[in-house]
Amino acid sequence: METAAGTVPLRKPKAGRLPALPPVDTHYNRVRKRFHLAFFLIFVALPFSNLMRFDIPRQRFYFAGIELWVSEFSIIFFALMFLMFVVAASAIVYGRIYCGYACPQMIFSEWSVSVEKWAADTIRKRFPKWPAARRKVAANTIFYAILAVASVFLAFVFTSYFVEPRDLMARLAHFDLVTTGGITGASVTLITFLDFTLVRQGFCKTVCPYGYLQGMLQDQHTLLVLYRDETNACIDCKKCVNVCEMGIDIRDSPYQIECVHCGDCVDACEDVLRKLGHPGLIHYSWGEKNTLALTKTEPWHHRWGFRDAKRVVILLVLLFYLSGLAVALSMRRPVLVYIAADRSTMYQIQPDGRVANRIRVKLANRSSKPVQVTLWVEGLPNAELAIVPNPVALAPGQLFENTVDLRVPLWPGAPSVNQIRILAQPSDVKSPDISELTFIMPSKGN
Ligand code: SF4
Ligand code: SF4
Repeated sequence: METAAGTVPLRKPKAGRLPALPPVDTHYNRVRKRFHLAFFLIFVALPFSNLMRFDIPRQRFYFAGIELWVSEFSIIFFALMFLMFVVAASAIVYGRIYCGYACPQMIFSEWSVSVEKWAADTIRKRFPKWPAARRKVAANTIFYAILAVASVFLAFVFTSYFVEPRDLMARLAHFDLVTTGGITGASVTLITFLDFTLVRQGFCKTVCPYGYLQGMLQDQHTLLVLYRDETNACIDCKKCVNVCEMGIDIRDSPYQIECVHCGDCVDACEDVLRKLGHPGLIHYSWGEKNTLALTKTEPWHHRWGFRDAKRVVILLVLLFYLSGLAVALSMRRPVLVYIAADRSTMYQIQPDGRVANRIRVKLANRSSKPVQVTLWVEGLPNAELAIVPNPVALAPGQLFENTVDLRVPLWPGAPSVNQIRILAQPSDVKSPDISELTFIMPSKGN
């Protein structure tokens, strides 16, 4: 149609009302709440099971139940790289699914919002005759009291990722507000309380780095939540907007940085439009151009998302990291042995005429069981390593560090430099740890 202002696009006719469709099988909100419960339990259990946590005071890193020492930095680095790569791969393939379904910040933010609503509803129903201001004060008092108790618990769990839980429990029981650990615990509790009473999803919208990272990593096949209205069926009811905890309108774009791919707007639109005989207009989709989301010939979750060469490479790199980590962990020796000559003096002549070299011995039991380490010398006849007792008993996590004499009787024609080996055999380990070093004697003729 031509007008004075130019060409006016023709409006598509609104889709008419049809017989109601049956409700959808999958309500994402219900699925998500089950995931929230599962991930909450995992979040609480991880530090207690030593599956993954740092122990800052003891300088240990626990991964898959194995205690790694700070000296094993290469394995710790490999494990952290693997976790980082899992996060990045998840962002490339599944977008912000982690945010909506698994992130503790999201889980507790949504829980806090529901507690606030529950407190307000309960007071309104029980005391309908109270003035609105008094009801508000009562509801807020209940809400803040529940959040205060929950914050102590959450801060305890969070801090357990960095301090041994039993140690932390003792500090909590003694109401420790003096030591570094106690002050840290109190500060984390206060921050948790402020986070889940004031900030909540605001954190995801403003400062969370994962949202920005995801924006950089996603491509045309990344899973997203997509609005498509080919049939002009949208009745502009704004249910999808009202239900969105992130406060956005998914109809504006599927690439809004605030969208955490929770799927609440998918449920809302299905609920509204199915009553009018139309399927919902919002779907999970493998990229914007994927028509499967519209035709519904194949539900999106029937694919794993590894649909192009880039994703196959991601999968292979993940497998490479995982197998590298498994090999590094399997080759790890449970007892660290460090033996070296102390060259502050080259040699000493003992009162009994024997020659002695000083040897630095460091043994560390990195396993969870007690071990005995037996040491002996090869390459020097009648050598005596003055370590008492031998074998050395080490409790789990115990470190033995000492400088001891290695004594040997002089023999005619003894060379001044002797290549020797000191062997350390921990119990429960098949082969001994071998340290090669030199033993210095007086020069011939001295
Ligand atoms: S737009 Fe939809 S999927 Fe995205 S955060 Fe809001 S409700 Fe969740
Ligand atoms: S819920 Fe569906 S019909 Fe209602 S405004 Fe959103 S997209 Fe349109």
